[in-house]
Amino acid sequence: MDFVLEIKKFINKYIFRKKYVRKGACKRCGACCSRIYVRHGKHTINSEKEFTVLRHLHPFYSYLRVEGKDDLGLIFSCSNFDEEQHICKIHKRRPGICRRYPDEIIFSMGACLSEGCGYSFRPIDKFADVLKSVEKRPLKNCMIFSDDIKIDFSDVTDENPQCEESD
Ligand code: SF4
Ligand code: SF4
Repeated sequence: MDFVLEIKKFINKYIFRKKYVRKGACKRCGACCSRIYVRHGKHTINSEKEFTVLRHLHPFYSYLRVEGKDDLGLIFSCSNFDEEQHICKIHKRRPGICRRYPDEIIFSMGACLSEGCGYSFRPIDKFADVLKSVEKRPLKNCMIFSDDIKIDFSDVTDENPQCEESD
């Protein structure tokens, strides 16, 4: 067992409260700088009026321009992204939110990694281990409606959380 890996796992899980480990590296495709959703509080911004107020709160928001809207909310692109060179024009002083990207919080927003992104996420706990710990818990608060109900976990893997394609 790799001791350093186990320490990292412990810190991520119990200190940072993470559920996934991020792997890989940025390929500098720029997709995440050209299609951005903004979450404020518990919801994703979906009105320009709301965004106008928000853009005074953090310098990062002042870089964004509205490109469109879909079911999730407004879609922004960042004016610091150089479309020709495919680089961030302020790379060395880019905001913390860009330095930390991608973070697993995007999954809780209903978003996912851009297609072809060099990063991937793996669950910290293997699905089989989670299932085992759930099986060990007493069923005192559960209601079983029928003995005939069977849940098939056979197609559940430890791979990345996947998003449905949306048009
Ligand atoms: S989408 Fe992924 S690979 Fe592309 S620039 Fe963003 S972080 Fe890097
Ligand atoms: S500041 Fe740079 S890294 Fe951050 S979204 Fe804009 S172009 Fe991308």
